[in-house]
Amino acid sequence: MDLSIFFAGTGGSVPTARRGLPAILVRRGGDRILFDCGEGTQRQLVSSIGLTELTEIYLTHFHADHWLGLPGMIKTFDLRGRERPLAIHGPPGLRALLGLVLQMAGRVGFELEVIELGLGDVLIRDGYRVAPVAVAHRGRAYGYALFEDERPGVFDPQEAVRLGLSEGPEFGRVQRGETIRGVTPEQVLGDARPGRKLVLSGDTGPCESLRIAAHRADVLVHEATFAEEEDERAGQTGHSTAVQAARLAREAGVGMLALNHVSTRHPLSVLRDEARSVFSPTVIPRDFDTIEIPLAERGEPMLVRWEAQAAAGARPGSGEPAASAQPGEGQPAASAAPGEGQPAAAEAPG
Ligand SMILES: [Zn+2]
Ligand SMILES: [Zn+2]
Repeated sequence: MDLSIFFAGTGGSVPTARRGLPAILVRRGGDRILFDCGEGTQRQLVSSIGLTELTEIYLTHFHADHWLGLPGMIKTFDLRGRERPLAIHGPPGLRALLGLVLQMAGRVGFELEVIELGLGDVLIRDGYRVAPVAVAHRGRAYGYALFEDERPGVFDPQEAVRLGLSEGPEFGRVQRGETIRGVTPEQVLGDARPGRKLVLSGDTGPCESLRIAAHRADVLVHEATFAEEEDERAGQTGHSTAVQAARLAREAGVGMLALNHVSTRHPLSVLRDEARSVFSPTVIPRDFDTIEIPLAERGEPMLVRWEAQAAAGARPGSGEPAASAQPGEGQPAASAAPGEGQPAAAEAPG
């Protein structure tokens, strides 16, 4: 089962030429789960992998940089004739926000389910669960953990034969939990294997509950709005520095740290070097990059740059000519990054 994180927008507070506002699409099997929906998210998706039919949406909090893309996206789904319901989850206050969103979007023909989550809620899906995590931002804000169900242990065919089972259907039955002629599944299966786990911080300062939730996660996506020289300002605004994110990742023992919600204030190389000095498996995805998360026995999480995906023809569902046909309009380039150096907004970042 494929599991990946697609970064539709990796900037924070204000968009730049290279970075859209926060939006992360988690893809697991056929499920498409969007976390946050900053202004321009549907454009970001149309310009990359296509505006896919979403399974559900989760908002981390209600600062404008995290939800302003919702009205337009909902309207587009309606114009396209979406029929299946769309569930939108978030902290308490979501219902009032969605009232406003629907005023903007106008009447839509499909059902919108609005679900205000409380801490301790765990949403059970087919093969995985999603749970909100308390974080330390301004106002009510959640991170989210997505974790898969445990997988059965590895089957030992030699032991099964030794215990008297015969190869064929009996092997399948005992692996599915049946006891056959006194041979129990426990005798022929190794220990259950943990499923994969990914944790998204949303906007937050360093946060104990997030550290606990991220324990041994395969991937932690953590905001890094500031570099270390502005740690005081990070504290005042409920945000983190790259070093703080890296410390949390190290203490939680995660497999990979991906920094997002990066601002124009600091060169990326500074954020990256500061974070890696604390926790070396740190990456800073650009817009449209993907982190693939294989099952543990198949390897480590891996950042795949958009250029590599595009070269491999990863444009399903777009239905439009590839961006390469529109020079100058397209993807984040590997080299110089004009726009990363724009003056930053003076007010508190969102
Ligand atoms: Zn924000
Ligand atoms: Zn915020």
